[in-house]
Amino acid sequence: MQPSDTIQETLNTPVTGRYDVIVVGGGASGTVAAIAAARTGARTLLVERGGCLGGAATANLVAQWVAFFHGETRVVGGIPFELAERVQAAGGSDGFHRYVMGEAAGTPFPLRVLPFNPETVKWVLDGSVNEAGVEVLLHTTFARALVRDGAMAGVTVETVQGRLALLAPVVVDASGDALVCASAGVPFQDDGGERQPCTLSFRLSNVDVARFRAVPSDQRRALVLGGLRRGELFWESLSFVSTPGGTDAICLMSRIQDIDALDARDASRAEREGRRQIASIVGFLRREIPGFENAILADVAERVGVRETRRIRGRHTLSEEDIMQARSFEDSIALGAGPMDRHQPGGTGIRLYAPPQPFEIPLRALLPVDVEGLLVCGRTLSATREAMAGARHMATSMAMGQAVGTLGAIAAAGGRRPANVPASEVQQRLAQAHALFRREQVAPQGQPA
Ligand SMILES: Cc1cc2nc3c(=O)[nH]c(=O)nc-3n(C[C@H](O)[C@H](O)[C@H](O)COP(=O)(O)OP(=O)(O)OC[C@H]3O[C@@H](n4cnc5c(N)ncnc54)[C@H](O)[C@@H]3O)c2cc1C
Repeated sequence: MQPSDTIQETLNTPVTGRYDVIVVGGGASGTVAAIAAARTGARTLLVERGGCLGGAATANLVAQWVAFFHGETRVVGGIPFELAERVQAAGGSDGFHRYVMGEAAGTPFPLRVLPFNPETVKWVLDGSVNEAGVEVLLHTTFARALVRDGAMAGVTVETVQGRLALLAPVVVDASGDALVCASAGVPFQDDGGERQPCTLSFRLSNVDVARFRAVPSDQRRALVLGGLRRGELFWESLSFVSTPGGTDAICLMSRIQDIDALDARDASRAEREGRRQIASIVGFLRREIPGFENAILADVAERVGVRETRRIRGRHTLSEEDIMQARSFEDSIALGAGPMDRHQPGGTGIRLYAPPQPFEIPLRALLPVDVEGLLVCGRTLSATREAMAGARHMATSMAMGQAVGTLGAIAAAGGRRPANVPASEVQQRLAQAHALFRREQVAPQGQPA
C-alpha cells in the first residue's frame, strides 16, 4: 500500500513498564526467548498481537514441530525439547512420528516430526511462561522502536488501553517480519528473487485417517495431479497433520502466490484467496480421497501462514554453503536439521533436500548490524534465502530463541551491550540448560549424525 501523502501526528505516550528484556512476538522463537530470559534472571515482558502464544503452531494451525531430529539424531534440546515433552504429557501429542513432507510432490521427504493439537500447545505455553515469571501482554501490537544514540531503549505498542511505551535496554525481535528491526533502521538482505508463497491452513474433523494413510503413495500423487489439472488444488500436496485420536486432519494445502505479506492490501487479499481455495480443496477431498467422505470443516487458521518476509543483515549471513558444507562456528548457539524446504514461487512444486549433517547457527546471525541492544530469532535471522529455507523450522527457531533470550538476560544483568558479551558465556549457560549447539554434542567429530 503506497502512501499518497503524509500527515504529522504528535503523541504523548505514557510509559507503563520498565524491563530488562522485552520480546516482541510470542511465536515459536519469541516464547522460548522470553522463558530463557526470565529463567536467566531478567525481568521479562512478552508482547504478542494475537490472543495466544505459539505463533505459526497455533494461530496458523501449523501443527507439527519439525527439525528436532536430523535423521534419527536429536539436535535440539533445552527449553524447546522440554516444551515438546510437556505437550505430550498434557495429552496434546502422542510423540515423535515419521512423516513424509511434500507427500504427493515430486520430492517427498521422510523425517521425524512432533504432531500436536494446537489447542493443547496454547495452554502448555501459558503455563511455561507463567512458571518462568514472564509478564505477557496479549492483543498487544508492536508499534515503534525507541532508539537512543544507536541503542534500543524500548518499544511503543498499541493495546486496548491505547498506545503505551515500555522500556528496556534489550529488545528481542521475534515478530517473524523483523518489525522492530525495520522501525530501528536495521538493513535487510537484498538478494532479489521471489518470496515463498503463503498457506491458509484448515482442520477437518470426522476423517478416517487410518484409511487415508493406507492409500498407496503413487495413487495419492495421481489423485493430486488430477485435482491440479482441474484447478481444484493449488500445489502438489496432500499434506495432513493428524492430531492424537486419528479423527482430525489439519491440512496445509492452499498456496497463495504473489503476496507481499508486508503490504496491507496484499495481506488482506491473501486471507480471502486462502478461504476461496479451502472451499475448493474441501470439496475435492470429500469427493476424491478415501477417508474424507464425511469430513467436516472444523476450523480455519486465524491468520494466513507466511513463510518469508524480511531477513536482517547481521554480523554473519548464514549461507547455503555454510549449511551444506557443515561449517563450524566458534560462536555457534543452535543446531539446525533442515530439510532445506523451498515452496516454488509461482509454481505447484516444492524443493526438499537434506543438509548432510546438523548445521551450526552462529550467534552473529542473530545480531543486527548498527543497532545495539536489538536481537533477532526465528525466520528473520541473517541468512540468504536458501539458508533461511533450511533454518526456519520451528524447533530450530525455538533453539535460536533460547540463545538470544539467554544473551539478552546476561547483557542486561551486567549493563553490557549484547554484542560485547562473549559467545562462550552464552554457550556456557546454554550447556547448563541442556541446549544443543555444537555438532560434536550430537555426533562425534568426523562422523555423520
Ligand atoms: C504454511 C506454513 C507451513 C509450515 N510448516 C512447518 C512445519 O510443518 N513445521 C515447522 O516446524 N515449521 C513449519 N513452518 C515454518 C515455521 O512455522 C516458521 O518459520 C516459524 O514459526 C518461525 O518462527 P518465528 O518465531 O520466527 O515466527 P512465528 O512462529 O510466526 O511467530 C511470530 C509471532 O510474532 C507475532 N507478531 C507479529 N507481528 C507482531 C506485532 N506487530 N506485535 C506483536 N506480535 C507480533 C505473531 O502473531 C506471531 O505470534 C511453516 C510455516 C508456514 C507459514
